[in-house]
Amino acid sequence: MEKISDFFGINVFSDSVMKDRLPEDVYEKLKNTIKDGKGLDSSIADTVADAMKDWAIEKGATHYTHWFQPLTGITAEKHDSFISPAEDGGIIMEFSGKELIKGEPDASSFPSGGLRATFEARGYTAWDPSSYAFIKDNTLCIPTAFCSYSGEALDQKTPLLRSMAAINKQALRIAHLLGYSDVKSTNTTVGPEQEYFLVDKELYNKRPDLIFTGRTLIGSMPPKGQEMDDHYFGVIKPRVAAFMRDLDNELWKLGVLAKTEHNEAAPAQHELAPVFTTTNIAADHNQITMEFMKKIALRHGLVCLLHEKPYDGVNGSGKHNNWSISTDTGINFLKAGKNPEKNQLFLLTLAAVIEAVDKHQDLLRIAVATAGNDHRLGANEAPPAIISIFLGEDLTSLLESVESGVHHDAVKREKMKMGADVIPEFRKDNSDRNRTSPFAFTGNKFEFRMLGSASSISDTNVMLNTMLADVFSEYAEKLENAENTETAVNEIIKTALHNHKRIIFNGDGYSKEWEEEAERRGLLNLPSTVDALPLLKSEENIALFERHGVFNRAEINSRIDIILENYAKTVHIEALTLIGMMNRDVIPAITAYTNSLCETVNNKNLIRADSTVEYELITKLSAANKEIFNLTAQLKMAVSSAERSKDVFERANEYHAVVLKLMGDIRKFADSAESVVPASYWPYPSYGDLLFKI
Ligand code: ADP
Ligand code: MG
Repeated sequence: MEKISDFFGINVFSDSVMKDRLPEDVYEKLKNTIKDGKGLDSSIADTVADAMKDWAIEKGATHYTHWFQPLTGITAEKHDSFISPAEDGGIIMEFSGKELIKGEPDASSFPSGGLRATFEARGYTAWDPSSYAFIKDNTLCIPTAFCSYSGEALDQKTPLLRSMAAINKQALRIAHLLGYSDVKSTNTTVGPEQEYFLVDKELYNKRPDLIFTGRTLIGSMPPKGQEMDDHYFGVIKPRVAAFMRDLDNELWKLGVLAKTEHNEAAPAQHELAPVFTTTNIAADHNQITMEFMKKIALRHGLVCLLHEKPYDGVNGSGKHNNWSISTDTGINFLKAGKNPEKNQLFLLTLAAVIEAVDKHQDLLRIAVATAGNDHRLGANEAPPAIISIFLGEDLTSLLESVESGVHHDAVKREKMKMGADVIPEFRKDNSDRNRTSPFAFTGNKFEFRMLGSASSISDTNVMLNTMLADVFSEYAEKLENAENTETAVNEIIKTALHNHKRIIFNGDGYSKEWEEEAERRGLLNLPSTVDALPLLKSEENIALFERHGVFNRAEINSRIDIILENYAKTVHIEALTLIGMMNRDVIPAITAYTNSLCETVNNKNLIRADSTVEYELITKLSAANKEIFNLTAQLKMAVSSAERSKDVFERANEYHAVVLKLMGDIRKFADSAESVVPASYWPYPSYGDLLFKI
């Protein structure tokens, strides 16, 4: 068998490939751009393009594409071949620096939320040299940012890069002020754990809801779930294992550090976690990972469901965003070290995270707001729609001792056990409880767990980076004006804790009591996308993003429009799908079954027909069918009414408040019918089939 090291990253125009293939001075210049985020020296573009083209062609590539992430949630590509006509009537393979640096896709088909004025449909893609080019399907893919003619961001990557620059600037100030004078740059790092479901392709093909919406719109849980669980472990595993092996291999070729793969809580649910890397690359790699999960599942006769809630009543899928900041000299801001109580950088960063998360609860909730994720947040197995931070008791009491001014030595004596061993012990002891927290300290990183499985991780990290940049810049200003840095650091921590400790919660985040307690503490509880999104355009938020050069007002407004529009469209498609399923499949199926029951009653020629089981079933099912029929007609009207509202917020709100509710009502009747109609009459594979038969 081939060694992994022999093929890891073979399809990536990586640092070592560049070093091999570029003239030394060009390589150095490019490297400086990548490392320090400095602007690209355009004189080297032709040389880099040429080297890229030769490398790609040697690997069998025929086309190139600017690979970008418009606000559709998935990646976009427009392929061009390398061929150019030659003078002798033949062809030559060409790729210029200009083509590398800039592309002009037809931008009019991507969402812009009104940013692209109607007279200017053009958009630009611009090469992002900080994420490596790679080959996929015989195409050289060049990671790019996507913006409008006048430079407004139309994508996920542009604000992410801006937010990385913003936090780098402020984190550098902090590092220097705390005596780390040799630090030249800092980087936020992310390891996103990706959850997903697999389902048999043939069964999937029989479910219009899965095909059109990615989730089941009806379906009742099998009563014998546990027993089928054994079946699941016995039979499915080899097929899933083959898929995972295949996926790992393909991802490794693209330099994605896929590391752990395991089964998740729900049957047919799994997780892939990569080794963490810089945020920009982590975001690109997560997109590649999702794309390959879907593609490779098909090779195995499976379909990969990335939806946040494919099955009602079964665990949903999320994405855990493990986040930290490190310096180019290898110091992790969130690493406690042997003496956490003496580690000013660590304590100050903790305080900053606490302050930032408390101040900007709305932004974190907004970052994860999608129609799909709304089904998951607040359901039993996922973090609630309330943001809180888990620190664990040890760290909480350490911070409290700083706040109360108890001398550090006292902390030390009582808590010194924490010293060198504290972090591993802490993680082990508390791992059960901290699973319910949306934002948990998990030893040298914070883990934000509210992300939906299908979304890009960019939004979340844009928010995190900007929030932290802002708090860091306030702290830096205070420290710059302080006489004694150490005293000032302690003061800052004290104040931050005093003002923001309501956000710390170490208990059970799924409990009803927490919801009430959170309300007493004045924490935000934003159950749905339509509750959350309008908060994005508060004057404070616009000022925050403008202050750090991450979004301007127009970009924020356009994003709100796009997200709400997307929400409305998603529910619209779901509603139409459900209407079709009811009218064409479910209502006729129930009718057919009741018909056969009627025949039985007739054939029996019973004197007292109303005393039979058949009669009871007929009555019950006819009543349910009538409800389904009437509600479906109502749903149709509700959709038309929602579509008529011109204002995007009103439209989204109608879909949320009226359409989704009716869909839920229909589902109740359909599910109760499914539980008594024989499988031979029911038009769709059951939950039992979908979840356990692979
Ligand atoms: P868990 O106990 O949650 O499985 P792991 O150590 O496996 O914890 O980490 C989960 C994810 O966190 C992985 O993707 C890992 O690479 C990432 N991670 C670890 N350290 C950091 C860090 N300093 N910054 C960002 N992500 C990190
Ligand atoms: Mg995790």
